[in-house]
Amino acid sequence: MLAEPVKRELTRIVSPENISFEREDLLCYSYDATGRRYVPECVLFPRSAEEVSLILKMASAEGIAVVPRGAGTGFTGGSLPVRGGIVLSTERMTQIEIDADNMVGVCGAGVVTWDFAQKAESMGLFYPPDPTSLRVSTIGGNIAECAGGPRGLKYGVTKDYVLSVEMVLPTGEVIKTAPGKTLKGVVGYNLTGLVTGSEGTLAVVTKAYLKLLPLPEARTLVVATFDTLERAGQTVIHIVRDAGVVPSALEIIDGVCLKAVDEYAKTGLGGAGSAIIVEVDGNRDAVKKDAERVERVCQRMGAQWVDVAEDQKRMKELWSLRRDISPALKRVGSLKLNEDVVVPRTNIVELIRGLEDISKKRNITIASFGHAGDGNIHVNIMADRNNPQEVERAESAVKDLFELTLGLGGTISGEHGVGITKSDYIGMELSRDTIELMKRIKRAFDPNNILNPGKVFTEEVQGV
Ligand SMILES: Cc1cc2nc3c(=O)[nH]c(=O)nc-3n(C[C@H](O)[C@H](O)[C@H](O)COP(=O)(O)OP(=O)(O)OC[C@H]3O[C@@H](n4cnc5c(N)ncnc54)[C@H](O)[C@@H]3O)c2cc1C
Repeated sequence: MLAEPVKRELTRIVSPENISFEREDLLCYSYDATGRRYVPECVLFPRSAEEVSLILKMASAEGIAVVPRGAGTGFTGGSLPVRGGIVLSTERMTQIEIDADNMVGVCGAGVVTWDFAQKAESMGLFYPPDPTSLRVSTIGGNIAECAGGPRGLKYGVTKDYVLSVEMVLPTGEVIKTAPGKTLKGVVGYNLTGLVTGSEGTLAVVTKAYLKLLPLPEARTLVVATFDTLERAGQTVIHIVRDAGVVPSALEIIDGVCLKAVDEYAKTGLGGAGSAIIVEVDGNRDAVKKDAERVERVCQRMGAQWVDVAEDQKRMKELWSLRRDISPALKRVGSLKLNEDVVVPRTNIVELIRGLEDISKKRNITIASFGHAGDGNIHVNIMADRNNPQEVERAESAVKDLFELTLGLGGTISGEHGVGITKSDYIGMELSRDTIELMKRIKRAFDPNNILNPGKVFTEEVQGV
């Protein structure tokens, strides 16, 4: 329980309208996309790095857990206050500034990804990282998780756009990791890179300097269905290798997802074994040629149905095939263990075969889709939450999946991070020495272990 003097001091730091101890408010900050719930003792809405600094200094002195939170869309429990304490919401840090000449955007950590991308677009600029949650997720949350999306194959992920951050250490120091508007800079260690993907355990990001690109002139979407998932996987490899096209998005969807989306949104594609969605962008003439090449590869690989869309309305309709998967899968099973493994692209077909084997061995439904272009597949292991045997089989299937992925030279998470849901498994991928080095870094940043404790590592990270 927070002591009364602590409550008074926190209220003084942020002012009464930016703090709540009310149960109805606390419940709104107690969950994320895992569906798990931990209620904090207080939620704070600081507006500046200076306020965050005072909060963290106090929390460090008093040993109070502080959990940074963007929009709470994380899939691994990163924003959950598992040890109680304070949730520090960034939702009032929403300033955006675009320096069009330098092609750099500067924004507060709580800016919604979509709002930032739209603001850049209104000035003819392009912010490529596009997690499917982008209409809700925040830039701070994207940096903390190093979020990626369909455009990852051609444009990379969040880390490829973060030039610098302003961040507050758990002990209260405000740090700027690099000048911000230079595209290069190698003075000292790469702290920007270290904090990107650190899951809110090393520092609270308060402001980010983000690289922008010129907005592509044109886009075209090619969607194709196939009889099997394996054939779709082979087509993905041929599009990149033989057609020489690097699509701006290359997504794969299995038959379970297509059926679920058809039942949810009546797409008429429920009978197909798999589909791929390929987006190409760039200069108008090049886009036309690339789309033709992709279409030819799909036909050659035996596609059952191909559609090529150039107008916005049709592209949006076709993208809904992918966007509607998450809500549609809710009807397939009340428990969805959502993993985001990555393998080298050439091992996708092996991964698909292995998933079929796991599904049979554990007698469990597996629904897969994802960013096949960069080898990142979202594997959803479905179960009935009220059936303990099925839940147990689903959990065993997760371990099978990680063994399969690592055996294929992959990683157990490409986007969602470790949080609390994968902390039991990091030892399968990282050596003991690697984990110990990471813990030493955590101790150097957070000697009192107050910032997002209980995340990433299973064992306690002791202070220095
Ligand atoms: C439907 C759906 C689709 C999704 N699709 C994708 C996808 O395509 N690609 C992808 O990568 N992810 C995806 N996600 C996962 C999630 O949206 C991303 O991880 C996103 O980056 C989280 O942003 P957030 O603002 O919601 O962060 P939160 O969930 O609030 O927090 C996530 C983590 O970041 C930390 N954090 C938040 N803000 C800060 C800050 N300012 N400083 C330090 N730490 C901070 C938190 O402590 C926590 O550990 C999806 C989620 C959903 C629900």
